[in-house]
Amino acid sequence: KSRGWGGSVKAAAFDYMRAHSLEQVFEAFAAHGQDARILAGGQSLVPILNLRMAEPKLLVDITGIAALRGITETPAGLRIGALVRHVELLRDSRVAALAPLIARAVPHVAHAAIRNRGTIGGSLALSDPAAEYPPVALVSGAVLHLHGPAGRRDVAAGDFFRGIYDTALQTGELIEAVTIPPPPPGTVHDLQELARRHGDYAIIGLVLRCRVEAGRVRDLRASFINGGSVPALLRRAAAAAEGLTPADAADAAASAVADDIDPPSDLQASAAMRLHLGRVLLRRSLRRLAA
Ligand code: FAD
Repeated sequence: KSRGWGGSVKAAAFDYMRAHSLEQVFEAFAAHGQDARILAGGQSLVPILNLRMAEPKLLVDITGIAALRGITETPAGLRIGALVRHVELLRDSRVAALAPLIARAVPHVAHAAIRNRGTIGGSLALSDPAAEYPPVALVSGAVLHLHGPAGRRDVAAGDFFRGIYDTALQTGELIEAVTIPPPPPGTVHDLQELARRHGDYAIIGLVLRCRVEAGRVRDLRASFINGGSVPALLRRAAAAAEGLTPADAADAAASAVADDIDPPSDLQASAAMRLHLGRVLLRRSLRRLAA
């Protein structure tokens, strides 16, 4: 699987430090500022270093910090530590029950070797437009728990992702965990993506949830994967679908969705092709609800 990664260059020289507490992370950033970079699973950062898209002087390995691990049920929802690896999400039955969109996303995240090391915190922090978790976090109404030298703060997913590889994280601040609130009763979920091979980054994907009450679609929340530089709710599509039967909602949402997205053109697909495929996914997903 590749998006053009795998060049033959090697990373520039850097120092490495394994942190055992958040205080050690903050101290490292106080001393090195933007020259330091957090290292979690390394599944994105190492290729980035090898391609010299970044040349940090110090890597601060956070994988030894126990406080960033673990999945817990809280009154606010399922709290997933930043260091929880993709493979752990796949295997935990609480994720399937309480954070169904995460559970549906994981099998699409890369391949087994990468899922064994990559973490949810690393994926959210990277804010890759083609990644699955950012739109899943948005549609699920997730809250990111950040911790930095100035203390803790909570940021809603809708305010966290700012652009391609750009988030609300400040220098020296890290994601401690993410909480996925319980879906409202009666919510149905779907996640689909079109990729050349299963596990490849999506050409385009769709994350969707809604309720179907008395045969009518209610409260549709949906976002595309790789539909633009930052995940965004499909607000016009949702408004068009509200109160319709799933079959009618499928057509109405697909017609309205052009105003919701600004997809990229690249070697995989043109913007027009992505819009077309996005409509296909939206129609398919809503029609399934009628079945
Ligand atoms: P790292 O690579 O260690 O770090 C990534 C970035 O996040 C770095 O900037 C780092 O400083 C920062 N960071 C890490 N943890 C934190 C934290 N807790 N707080 C603040 N900043 C932090 N992903 C997908 O979603 N879908 C795919 O289909 C997919 N395919 C892939 C295919 C290949 C070949 C590869 C190499 C990767 C692929 N990935 C894919 C990326 C993979 O999911 C990564 O595991 C994930 O994006 C980053 O997690 P990581 O723990 O490896 O983070």
